[in-house]
Amino acid sequence: MNREMPRKKLDLSSAIAEGDIRVLLMVLVHMTGDERWLEPPYKPKRDVSLIPDPHAGVPKEIQDEIRAAVLKLFENGEPKPVITDPGNELILKMMSATLGENVAPEYAPLMREEMGFIPRDARWARRPSDETLAKQHVLIVGAGVCAIALGVALGRLGIPYTIIEKQDEIGGTWYINRYPGSASIRRTTPIPSPSAREIRGRAISPSARSCSTISRRSRSNTTSAAMSASIPN
Ligand SMILES: Cc1cc2nc3c(=O)[nH]c(=O)nc-3n(C[C@H](O)[C@H](O)[C@H](O)COP(=O)(O)OP(=O)(O)OC[C@H]3O[C@@H](n4cnc5c(N)ncnc54)[C@H](O)[C@@H]3O)c2cc1C
Repeated sequence: MNREMPRKKLDLSSAIAEGDIRVLLMVLVHMTGDERWLEPPYKPKRDVSLIPDPHAGVPKEIQDEIRAAVLKLFENGEPKPVITDPGNELILKMMSATLGENVAPEYAPLMREEMGFIPRDARWARRPSDETLAKQHVLIVGAGVCAIALGVALGRLGIPYTIIEKQDEIGGTWYINRYPGSASIRRTTPIPSPSAREIRGRAISPSARSCSTISRRSRSNTTSAAMSASIPN
């Protein structure tokens, strides 16, 4: 059942006043390069709750200092980060400080990739010929987010693919399910919603020059949306 959720208007200072202390501390390190924010008395307390206390066990006066420092970053407009990529060593320190525990080093490159500090795109060391690529047409079953992301990656590599979907729309879980309250958010805050066909065109092959022939076939009692994309060089 959908419930109406009251929507509160947020400006920057009220958002910072409500921000999780861990996040604000990492913003400070990222934006200023100053590692003192990773040490006591700022260091968050370890909290293994599913939804940890946003105050991170930090005394009120220290929280105020942290929030004021974040707000100050914006005094001359949008700030530019001093750190463009923290590297494995610093991000590990940041992750350990955030969680209040030692984080294993193998998580560092993973997190840098997740956060977009290092690229995650698959690339060719030596690109095969168009003829070879054309013979490697990939069939992706199901058009959930993973399939869409895979389609984008294949498109960038120049590998032709077809995504088939048993539902009449793409999106998988996010098409089929509704989070409680999510529909009411949409009702109170209209989100521009391009048609599914437009979403497909952009998401399925953003770098293609000619792509996304979408065809629909009916199979006995199931509608099947087949999305094909051939990526020329
Ligand atoms: C209520 C709910 C909340 C969730 N919340 C989160 C969250 O907050 N964060 C998070 O990261 N994850 C969450 N998940 C997990 C979510 O499933 C994944 O994030 C993600 O959507 C999985 O994507 P997928 O592409 O792997 O699979 P799916 O989204 O499941 O897509 C699979 C697609 O394959 C299609 N398909 C299956 N079999 C066939 C077939 N034989 N022929 C043709 N098509 C077929 C299906 O119709 C579907 O469209 C949630 C899941 C649910 C159910």
